[in-house]
Amino acid sequence: MKAIVIGAGVIGAAVAYRLAEAGIDVTLVEAGRIAEGTSLTSFAWVSACEKIDSESYYRLSLAGVAAHCDLAAEFGAEGVWYRRPGVIQWLGAGYEGLALSESPLEQKLARLHALGYPAEIIGADDLSRIEPNLRPDALGIDGQAIHYPEDGYIEAPVMIAALVEAAVGRFGLELRTHAPVRRVLTANGRATGVETASGEILSADIVVNCAGCWANTVLGDPALEIPLAPTLGLIAYTPGTGTAVRKVLRTPRLNVRADGGGRLLLRANDLDETLGPDDVARPDHPAAVELARRLGELVPSLAGIGAEAARIATRPIPGGGLPCVGTIPGLDSYWVAVTHGGINTSAFIGIALRDEILQGRAAPEYAPYRPDRFFKAAA
Ligand SMILES: Cc1cc2nc3c(=O)[nH]c(=O)nc-3n(C[C@H](O)[C@H](O)[C@H](O)COP(=O)(O)OP(=O)(O)OC[C@H]3O[C@@H](n4cnc5c(N)ncnc54)[C@H](O)[C@@H]3O)c2cc1C
Repeated sequence: MKAIVIGAGVIGAAVAYRLAEAGIDVTLVEAGRIAEGTSLTSFAWVSACEKIDSESYYRLSLAGVAAHCDLAAEFGAEGVWYRRPGVIQWLGAGYEGLALSESPLEQKLARLHALGYPAEIIGADDLSRIEPNLRPDALGIDGQAIHYPEDGYIEAPVMIAALVEAAVGRFGLELRTHAPVRRVLTANGRATGVETASGEILSADIVVNCAGCWANTVLGDPALEIPLAPTLGLIAYTPGTGTAVRKVLRTPRLNVRADGGGRLLLRANDLDETLGPDDVARPDHPAAVELARRLGELVPSLAGIGAEAARIATRPIPGGGLPCVGTIPGLDSYWVAVTHGGINTSAFIGIALRDEILQGRAAPEYAPYRPDRFFKAAA
């Protein structure tokens, strides 16, 4: 069987790796370099703790975390691309994407404990001990935060590179970079391959569209499009600093985590809302400047540090906000995977789509999140 996977982001890399590992002849077709899309510019928190008000989304998110643990163990990658320093979430901190769990602290904690999710309340003294570089009154009048000791994040470009390299080296995956797909080819109700921008035809038995926020641009047929509701996000990066931030911090005005080499990675929901399509990601972008200023408020020794770099990316969000993974009615041999929170679920999507493609068994975790919900009315 020959498969074409479109897009070498975190999801395309995971799908291509799992298919190649299973003995499929896979070509991974990428418009630019690998890991150049949204996955490059992500906070990349891996967790299920914000999905507890939706049983199905919680179950899916938990499967995502478990798949990352398994994948990291397979590659010996715990601490290489999967880092789990723990996350501290201030009360009143905003959410990345869907706010599925806005219940009061005690209720949230009781629910997390009932689910067996590692979480604890910490106070100002605990925070000073864990993060001595933060302003002593950093928790503000709440004086409390939730600590998720086992949560962490993915260094997505590192994971993508490792999966692609392993798939090429061990399983013979063919990688085509700088080869934008112009359209998916179809015949008799089946996907039969892709045509690239240079006019080259690549034939295949199956096509998997993992082009993220560009998923509709590779189709060439509006009837196959998934409604998307993308949003913009800006991440600023400090220069390397000698001031450690040990945990992932989610405060009401700033999310911070380490980014290697002593750099810190910064973002904030309210500043993302100020972004427009013409904004250029530069260290002197007003949002990047403001992120660095807020960092100085939180970590006094970093006051005045400024941003060294900034990036803006588009979140690949299907209409309605929920994931979209599976087949499309009326087109056989074609799968699509577009989702926000795609770092969280990427390792699981690789397994779920492999099993669905090879065994015809769709993952129950994705039952509420299949693409056919967008096509039912038209059917
Ligand atoms: C600021 C921000 C914060 C985020 N925080 C989190 C978080 O904490 N946790 C989380 O789980 N998620 C988070 N996300 C979302 C997450 O980053 C995305 O869901 C995920 O990266 C999507 O991965 P992907 O592989 O689908 O897309 P991408 O990484 O964009 O990969 C798609 C690939 O397709 C390629 N492509 C495009 N067009 C073509 C074409 N014509 N032919 C061939 N290839 C093509 C692109 O070049 C790209 O490499 C965040 C996103 C942003 C922007």
